[in-house]
Amino acid sequence: MQDIPDSRIATGFADTLSTQGFKFLEHSSDPAFAVDTSMRLAYVNRSYIAFGCANGGLGEQDSFSGIGTYIGDVMSDPLRQFYLMAYGTLIKDDKTWNHEYDCSSPTHYRRYLQSTFPLKGKGLVVINRLLKEQSHTVASEPPVKDYYLNENQLIPQCSHCHKVRRHGADVKWDWVTEWVASPPQEVTHSLCEPCADYYYGELKATLTSA
Ligand SMILES: [Zn+2]
Repeated sequence: MQDIPDSRIATGFADTLSTQGFKFLEHSSDPAFAVDTSMRLAYVNRSYIAFGCANGGLGEQDSFSGIGTYIGDVMSDPLRQFYLMAYGTLIKDDKTWNHEYDCSSPTHYRRYLQSTFPLKGKGLVVINRLLKEQSHTVASEPPVKDYYLNENQLIPQCSHCHKVRRHGADVKWDWVTEWVASPPQEVTHSLCEPCADYYYGELKATLTSA
């Protein structure tokens, strides 16, 4: 097979991928990447570059320059903390992990399965598979800032499901299409309670299993 171009793989990492059985990712339509043990991007497949989620806008196919980037630099909190902790522990403990997550666009609900595989002391491979894509079934609320600005004049938006937190006595997270398409200046990244329960619960179950 053709060699993976240097712009998508770190020096020496091709051997790691092939000896551990992951060279098929070059021909996979599932967006995938690998990190080394210091959480620097060591490989991305072709599909990953076109993938709009969680890549921090790493660049176009022919001008990709993300190899060697510390992944903590291309994510923002709270997801940054979550994934750094998860990946770090999985590398250390040599464990696989599967979890589902939402990555919706303004027009479509999308759900992915993320599977991670440790590379026996060389890092971690992360594969994202699209499970479901459909038009949104939840109605959008109107983008009225007064309903959402909190006491700090910020609008918390869940980093996973992109819902925004309605300010008031009852905690409620609403889907506001306009703000997924173009978030207002006041948006601050957060995690809604259902997402936080789900993500941290899944992770905890994995990390504490034998
Ligand atoms: Zn959420």
